[in-house]
Amino acid sequence: MNGRRVSDQLVETIRDRSDLVSVVSEYLTLKKAGQNFTGLCPFHAEKTPSFSVNPSKQFFHCFGCGVGGDVFQFVMKVEGVAFPEALRRLAGKAGVALPEAGPDERESPARREAAQIYELNEAAAAYFHRNLIERPEGAFCRDYLKGRGITAETIKAFSVGFALPRRDDLLKQLGKQFSRSLLEKAGLTSRREGAQGEEGLFDRFRNRVLFPIRNLQGRVVGFGGRVLDDTQPKYLNTPETPVFTKGKHLFALDRAKGAGINALIIVEGYFDVIAAHQAGIPNAVGTMGTALTQDHLRLIRRISEKVLLIFDPDEAGARAALRTAPLLIEEGISAKVISLPSGEDPDLFIRKEGKAGFLKKLEEGKTPIDFAIFKMTEASALKSVDDKIKVTEEIFPLIERLKNKVEQSHYLKRLSDVLRIEERDLRAEFSSRTRKNKKEVSPSRPAPVAESKLPHDEETIASLLLQSQIDPSALADQLDLEDFTDPQIRGILSHFWNREEGRWFSPNRLNEIEAPLLTLYSRLSVRENRYENVQQTARDYILSLRAKRLRRESSEIESKIKLAERGGDFSLMKSLQQHFLKLRKELSHLTLSH
Ligand SMILES: [Zn+2]
Repeated sequence: MNGRRVSDQLVETIRDRSDLVSVVSEYLTLKKAGQNFTGLCPFHAEKTPSFSVNPSKQFFHCFGCGVGGDVFQFVMKVEGVAFPEALRRLAGKAGVALPEAGPDERESPARREAAQIYELNEAAAAYFHRNLIERPEGAFCRDYLKGRGITAETIKAFSVGFALPRRDDLLKQLGKQFSRSLLEKAGLTSRREGAQGEEGLFDRFRNRVLFPIRNLQGRVVGFGGRVLDDTQPKYLNTPETPVFTKGKHLFALDRAKGAGINALIIVEGYFDVIAAHQAGIPNAVGTMGTALTQDHLRLIRRISEKVLLIFDPDEAGARAALRTAPLLIEEGISAKVISLPSGEDPDLFIRKEGKAGFLKKLEEGKTPIDFAIFKMTEASALKSVDDKIKVTEEIFPLIERLKNKVEQSHYLKRLSDVLRIEERDLRAEFSSRTRKNKKEVSPSRPAPVAESKLPHDEETIASLLLQSQIDPSALADQLDLEDFTDPQIRGILSHFWNREEGRWFSPNRLNEIEAPLLTLYSRLSVRENRYENVQQTARDYILSLRAKRLRRESSEIESKIKLAERGGDFSLMKSLQQHFLKLRKELSHLTLSH
């Protein structure tokens, strides 16, 4: 849709039919607060809501990080897509038909390639699934899954599949429909070392049970395959492709998204996830054998602010907690950690104890820092002073990252208890360390943008105008851009206010303005304006702006008069004095009429 532009009229229609509040509500929980709705910002980590949506203006603004815009900008930012794609998605939701893409409207080559890979992956998933449920060769795999307690419904729900134990089965099947180079790009085939051309290609997945991995939108990005015997490697995943990167996807997140449960349970393996879902725990997602990454957490935050983690019950678990805690703090996700009895994984545990047993176990969750303290002090038995120092060296950096002093204090107390160190001494050690670090490190994340101070009267008028609380046409002859001193407010008014016609330009002009102006525009759009008499307030402020301008101008003229006097230029002096008197008269008239 880049070549031929969708008409402004159509953009307006889609905007009119989209409701920002319901679009935003798909990503976060909004609560009514005054004229606006507020919630936790999806674009920065926060504990108290500074993200506001103005339902009548159809605009959002975050007072914490400064992002803002209309429904198109929201979809672009939250989904990481460009304007045409945001338009397409909103058009789909609003039931507005977009003109078909013509031959001159090619998408970028990268997007086209990704779309082809999704299509190929979908076809491969369907083929593998048929292998498993229909073909005689699939019988062994069916028995294997049955042995692991997986039902036919679950196999269907997850489109579990089977790759035949042949060298080039998939290659032959899908090679008719898709190019070999695409099969290779999608990671469905591998290449014999040193081999050139098509001869060296063979199926990557052979004789394995396969789990399609889907992204948040439900598209197949890759596969995870497990052997049915003792062959190594036990698990084989899709390699890095244009649509799949290790550590960036979570298995079954697309299914957990719609589950409507507010905490996600993070497990490691495919079978752990599947056992949980089958037992009626649809909020389990899998890291597919990797440790939890920052990318994972960013993905999670779009769905939930709470996670439950399952770590090993030994020192490895403590290490995992130490490693993960800073990421969780950084992303503003609250977490609880549990460990299962040694040698058990969630799959086994759920099959043995059932849903109720597993959920009960989850209630034992400790915060990652508590978990790390608990495991470290349990493991080392704390024989010597050195052991204790080692523990503080591991835990202090985590406590330091906490922004909340009460929380910090809680963990320092806990640490002094378990280490049996005087709390006073521990705190002294902690603060000397903190002071040292303050000098050395700079914050990793920029501080939230402070709300810049705008002249109150100018901000009020601009905001009332923008929210259509006052009618610009009625004020056309009173309002003068020159009355405004703030360059940004002037920028917005001159860009959006069609003075000649006494009305606002189309909000489509938003796409033309720079980020700082957009931030201000959205801030003014969600500003709470509670005045008993809006028209009167607006008139008062407009008059006060005009008066200020007259005073400003007359004091400038006064100094010019002094200069002219000193220079002996009496004719200039005289004309300046006339101008000065005119301004003063206007000013007294203004204040009298008021
Ligand atoms: Zn924000």
